[in-house]
Amino acid sequence: MAYLHTLDEVDVKDKRILLRVDLNLPMENGRVSDATRIERILPTIQELSKKGGKVILLAHFGRPKGRRLEEDSLRQILPALEQYLNRTVTFADDCVGRSAATVVDTLQSGEVALLENTRFHKEEEENDASFIAELAKNGDVFVNDAFSAAHRAHASTEGLAHVLPAYAGRSMQAELEALNEALLNPQRPVIAIVGGAKVSTKLDLLGNLVRKTQYLVIAGGMANTFLSAQGVNVGKSLCEYELAPTARDVLAKATAANCKIILPIDVVVTKKFEAHAPSSIVSVDKIDADDMVLDVGPKSIAQVEAILQNCKTLVWNGPFGAFELPPFDQGTKLIAQSAAQLTLAGKLRSIAGGGDTVAALSQAGAAEQFSYVSTAGGAFLEWLEGRTLPGVAALEK
Ligand code: AMP
Repeated sequence: MAYLHTLDEVDVKDKRILLRVDLNLPMENGRVSDATRIERILPTIQELSKKGGKVILLAHFGRPKGRRLEEDSLRQILPALEQYLNRTVTFADDCVGRSAATVVDTLQSGEVALLENTRFHKEEEENDASFIAELAKNGDVFVNDAFSAAHRAHASTEGLAHVLPAYAGRSMQAELEALNEALLNPQRPVIAIVGGAKVSTKLDLLGNLVRKTQYLVIAGGMANTFLSAQGVNVGKSLCEYELAPTARDVLAKATAANCKIILPIDVVVTKKFEAHAPSSIVSVDKIDADDMVLDVGPKSIAQVEAILQNCKTLVWNGPFGAFELPPFDQGTKLIAQSAAQLTLAGKLRSIAGGGDTVAALSQAGAAEQFSYVSTAGGAFLEWLEGRTLPGVAALEK
């Protein structure tokens, strides 16, 4: 990467490497229920270990806000980490102080250690200078492989990069390469799909995307706000009526930027927000006063699929409907599968991200075929908004 320091530039042999990773994993009954984030960091850990570095993992878990909470201990991640790495990982009860120093001082070249949750110290989120200095005592080099935490200027995501030689890990590098290829220098036409529940959480993102893309598909509950702003009755659907002027503003900006906004032309409506509730397909001008829109209809799906055929790049965040409740998962599923096929055929570069999006694409069996699926939530959204992420900026040349 021309603009970032990467592992290609550093000799890590016998050095203590503070490696910031994302181990904020979903848990069920005390066990890791999805280890994707571990899989993503394996190449960096293995490379550093193979090159003879002493690998010291730093990570946060949950939101303990400076308290030592047993339920937020990284110790519970240790078995899964050891299993995926296929090696023993030494654990330190604290990320600073004597227990961290003892573990780090006895670590041999090539070995791996995990330090306890950085957020057990409130100074982590405050990006406190003396806490950064305490962390830095255990490292010669800082490597950041946690893109998903890079939108936070915390001690272990940003501060350390200013006091130690700092490099992007392989997962961070891959993520940025994929994302930059999608919006910084993409193959055109570019289509963005933005779905999900609310416009209010994605306003800045829409403003940025109308300037960067040729087609912007607005889907999910958000589409109701846009339809309503254009005088369509959306019945009892999720709709942010107070945002009508904002929605009209986005539409005007899109016209000015030559970006075509695609809204649903038909929808799936129901009277109850529950799985398998009786439903029907209506055009958007036929939504009843007691109807709830929970998905897009077949004409809307065909409309998006036709545009996809002519596009070279797709950026996707947010589902087309209430995908957790079948049959309201169909729009998301069918469009995801079309995008997956175009990607497999080499006609489309497809990038998706955001928590619900990953779940929706996996449910559709399409995530594997996408060119890149980001596991980041907030960081992916901030990147879509066109913001500079502090954790990334700190690694720039
Ligand atoms: P977000 O986190 O903003 O990406 O929103 C994802 C959520 O939006 C999912 O839980 C979906 O069930 C929900 N959603 C999508 N479309 C609709 C809709 N038409 N009505 C209500 N919820 C929706």
